[in-house]
Amino acid sequence: MERFTDDTALVTGAGSGIGRATARRLASEGANVVVSDIDEDRGEDVVAAIEDDGGSATFVSADVTDPKAVQRLVEVAIDTYGSLDIAHNNAGILTGFEDVADIDEDDWEQLVDVNLKGVWAGLKAELAVMEDQGGGVIVNTASEAGLVGMGGLGNYVASKHGVVGLTKTAALEYAERGVRVNAIAPGPTETNIQETMAGGSDPRELPFDTSAMSDVPMGRHAKPEEMASVVAFLCSEDASFVTGVTVPVDGGQAAD
Ligand code: NAD
Repeated sequence: MERFTDDTALVTGAGSGIGRATARRLASEGANVVVSDIDEDRGEDVVAAIEDDGGSATFVSADVTDPKAVQRLVEVAIDTYGSLDIAHNNAGILTGFEDVADIDEDDWEQLVDVNLKGVWAGLKAELAVMEDQGGGVIVNTASEAGLVGMGGLGNYVASKHGVVGLTKTAALEYAERGVRVNAIAPGPTETNIQETMAGGSDPRELPFDTSAMSDVPMGRHAKPEEMASVVAFLCSEDASFVTGVTVPVDGGQAAD
């Protein structure tokens, strides 16, 4: 299946986990992929993996908290491959577990800058370019934490609810301008971020209600590739009438 032949796709946070899997999936379906991450070594590894598989990719380092850097990232994508057809605003962090009243101001700002401002910076740079070229599609990475509250994760939950709201708003603004904007809400997924979630220990021993993370009706955590396949669906013409939604990809958690 080659749904993205000759398309250019940009993936942020593509050095690891969900972003890495999405970059590889889009490349495997024919897209030229701009792999972006703050971590150069990981990003270059992903480019090498895509090229080993016969795909086309280039690495561009960018910190998503810097809107000018994200703007340059989009410019490099267009200079390199001639268009920007697909964007996956995916970079995100999780800094730890605190009650809302105990969250440190610096932790708040750092996390919200990456998870929410970073998605806004992506949308800001991508939407106008896509409209000008006649269309495009964007998928943001939210979280199950964008749909429900989770004890001990106030800054993360707030940032991901913000991503869901931005997704709906951008989708409405651009619905008649040729750009679809959707999000995925991953449940627990086997990536580096889970080490932070676990706090280096069994999540069930944490002093907060982490059941929303650990109780998955399907009884297991997801592989990053199971997120990538849904992102690819949303980016494809198979989802041509889908915009403004956040799709739970969570083994049934949102139904619980
Ligand atoms: P990960 O840690 O494996 O990957 C995140 C990537 O983002 C890393 O490569 C990191 O270097 C990069 N990154 C961090 N800060 C950045 C910045 N300022 N600029 C650019 N890149 C930056 O984690 P993941 O699980 O693959 O996370 C991807 C997304 O999925 C995040 O938005 C996360 O919140 C979301 N998510 C993950 C889970 C899960 O269980 N893994 C669940 C729900 C949502």
